[in-house]
Amino acid sequence: MKTKEILVEVKSLRLNELQNYCVELGESAFRGKQVFNWIYENLAGDFDEMQNIPADLRTKLKTKAKLNSLKLISTQGSDSTQTIKYLFETADGNKIESVVIPEQNRKTLCLSTQVGCPLDCKFCATGLMGYTRNLTVSEIIDQYLQVSKAIHPDRITNIVYMGMGEPLLNYETTEKSLNILLKDLGNKIGRTRITVSTAGIPHNIVKLADSGLRVKLALSLHSPFEDVRNKIMPINIKYSLNENIEALKYYAKKTKTKIMFEYTMLKGINDREEDLIALKKLCSQLPTKVNIIPCNSIAHMVSGGFSAELEPTPLEKVREFAERLMTKDIFVMLRNTQGDDIAAACGQLAIQTKR
Ligand code: SAH
Repeated sequence: MKTKEILVEVKSLRLNELQNYCVELGESAFRGKQVFNWIYENLAGDFDEMQNIPADLRTKLKTKAKLNSLKLISTQGSDSTQTIKYLFETADGNKIESVVIPEQNRKTLCLSTQVGCPLDCKFCATGLMGYTRNLTVSEIIDQYLQVSKAIHPDRITNIVYMGMGEPLLNYETTEKSLNILLKDLGNKIGRTRITVSTAGIPHNIVKLADSGLRVKLALSLHSPFEDVRNKIMPINIKYSLNENIEALKYYAKKTKTKIMFEYTMLKGINDREEDLIALKKLCSQLPTKVNIIPCNSIAHMVSGGFSAELEPTPLEKVREFAERLMTKDIFVMLRNTQGDDIAAACGQLAIQTKR
C-alpha cells in the first residue's frame, strides 16, 4: 500500500528554503522567489492564482504542498476602539485568535504562538483554556497573511507576539517566524516595530538575544516581588524574576534595546505604595520602558478561586500610579484596554467560542 505523502507547508519555509524546494521539484530557484512574492506581496490564497508560475509547477505544488494552514471562521469588531479580532481554526480543529489594533497611523497585529497556554497566569483568559499544543511556523505566518488580506489595502505596520500562548516556550518556531517576517520580507516591518512578549523564560531570552534579530522584548512583569509573582504567575516558581532580570540585562546590552515591562494593574496586589517603590528600583537596574495596562477582568469567566478574587485597579488610581512612576529616567506609557467590549484580553474570544 502506498503511504500518503506528507504535504510541505509552504508558509513554514524561509525564502531560501522555498527556493531550494523549487530546485528539488526540478525548477529554478527563481521560481521560489516568484512563489514567495505571490504569497507575501499579492497575498495569494491558492496556487492557481500564481499566474506567472508554469502550469506544471502549479500542479506539482498542488499535489505536494499545502498553502493555507488556518481557516478564518469569524471576525468581531469593537465599536468603541475599532479593534478587530480574527478567530481561526487549525487543520486539527483548534481555535486560535489574532487581533488588529488600529492607532493613528499604525495597525498593530497581535499574534498567537500556542493553542491555549501552559502558564496559567491568574488574570489571563487564555490560561483558563489550558494548553493544547504549540503552533507551527505556518500557523503563525498564516495569521499575518490572512489578516493582511482581510485589512487590505491597509497594511500591518507593527507586530506584537502577545496573543494566546508563550512565544518563548515555542522558541524555534517563534524565531523562524520572526526571521520570515523580518528578514525575508526585507525589513518591510522593521525590527523596532516587532515586539515579543514573554512571562519570562530566561534561557530563551538569552537565545533570542544571541539570534541577531534584535526585536523589541517585553516582560510581563506585573509585580516587582517574587512572592506576588509566584501567586499570580506560577511560572515564576520555576523561573524567578531575579533570573529573568539577569537575562534581560544581557538582552538589553547585546541588542542595544530597552526592555518593556508590562504591568497589568490589579487592586491590592500590585498597586500599593511598596509596589511603586520596588518597581522604580527595578527600573533603575536596566534600560526599560513601562507599559501600564488597566486589567481586563476575567472574574466573570471563572466560578471561584484566586482568579475570581482579582479585581482591576480603578482607572483613576491606575493613572495616578503611572504618573507617580514617571521620572526623568523612567519612561511610562498608559495603555487603554483596547477592545474591552469585544473581550479582547488575551484568549477571551477563543474561550467564548469553545464554550
Ligand atoms: N505569554 C506572553 C504573551 C501573551 S500575554 C506573556 O505573558 O507576555 C500578552 C500580554 O497580555 C501579557 O503582558 C499579559 O500579562 C497581558 N494580559 C493577559 N491577560 C490580561 C488581562 N486580563 N488584562 C490585561 N492584560 C492581560
